[in-house]
Amino acid sequence: MSKERIFLSSPHMSGLEKDYIEDAFRTNWISPLGPHVSAFEQETADYVGVKGGVALNSGSSALHLALKLTGVEPGDVVFCSSLTFVASANPILYLGAEPVFIDSEPGSWNMCPDALRRAFENAVRLNKLPKAVVVVNIYGQSADFEKIKPLADQYNVPIIEDAAESFGAFYNNKPSGSFGDFSILSFNGNKMITTSGGGMLLSNNQKALEKARFWSTQAREPVLHYEHKEVGYNYRLSNILAGIGRGQLRVLTDRVEARRRVFERYRQELSPVSGIDFMPEMKNSRSSRWLTVMTLDPSTIKPSVNYLINQLSKEDIEARPAWKPLHLQPLFQKCLFFPHHTGDVAQSLFHKGICLPSGSNLTDAQQSKVLSIIHSVLKS
Ligand SMILES: *Cc1c(COP(=O)(O)O)cnc(C)c1O
Repeated sequence: MSKERIFLSSPHMSGLEKDYIEDAFRTNWISPLGPHVSAFEQETADYVGVKGGVALNSGSSALHLALKLTGVEPGDVVFCSSLTFVASANPILYLGAEPVFIDSEPGSWNMCPDALRRAFENAVRLNKLPKAVVVVNIYGQSADFEKIKPLADQYNVPIIEDAAESFGAFYNNKPSGSFGDFSILSFNGNKMITTSGGGMLLSNNQKALEKARFWSTQAREPVLHYEHKEVGYNYRLSNILAGIGRGQLRVLTDRVEARRRVFERYRQELSPVSGIDFMPEMKNSRSSRWLTVMTLDPSTIKPSVNYLINQLSKEDIEARPAWKPLHLQPLFQKCLFFPHHTGDVAQSLFHKGICLPSGSNLTDAQQSKVLSIIHSVLKS
């Protein structure tokens, strides 16, 4: 067995990226903008089935600009999924607004429509509707937009779809990232595809995208001298990184297939063990299976999640607990939280969930090694 470290999710280059990078070098179009940026935006928007995109230096920047476009200001409220990475909610704080967290539902692990409804009813009572709802597609599976969208529409609140982990997934046969008024992708090194670091804001609202493009390039007024009326940001993606993105986009479908195969093998070999379960996939959903998440029922399985993670780590294998829900983070301790009607689902997933190495470049032998260590820990 190889001695090299097995990662949770590592970059997986196809080789096609080099052609685009060489083109950027040949034309000396290294940065800032250039033809690869607009092509990457258009190709990504076409894949997702929306009118346009703005390529940015991170998914977090994309969320920040999406929230700004929905008019979030200091003192405003923004609803957000609780079971997610902190990046989903940090930009709410950048804008001086206050997140209100919504629990997961057991069937998808994503935002619970019933808890969302209660949050809206409470907001009406307080006479303070949110400016936006950040709906996260966790671990690659789309949220249940069929139920979430009518609620947001009823209160006339825009949806920001955080598709950072679900690029390449489908819901009702439509690509993930096409359900929000604004959607965001991440091309961080551990995501479905990577530009080493980057992100994209997607929408059908071209005028709004134009505004985001303006903000992302220091809000420079279209005159010769440097004229500024608004605060801007340096958020644009460089031409060279967009080139890497174009190469990666061409293999996105393969990357999804590979991760789904990884998930399937773990599931086949481990789900016969009593007390082990896997993240469910809704009937109308085709997850990107960004990460394979397994749950250990503590009433049946003796080794704890942390013990298993540590044993894997001793063998140079990276595994992690499920996301610690944001409503349990010290950073957000004063924020409201609307739980599922049976109790705190996100918290229970955090306690029993474990993310296994899931990269599209994970070899069969590496996966066998992970599996054999898990089996031996479970037997101990
Ligand atoms: C990775 C991630 C982000 C942020 O993306 P960056 O490109 O790292 O800024 C946002 N939301 C979720 C759910 C993520 O997993």
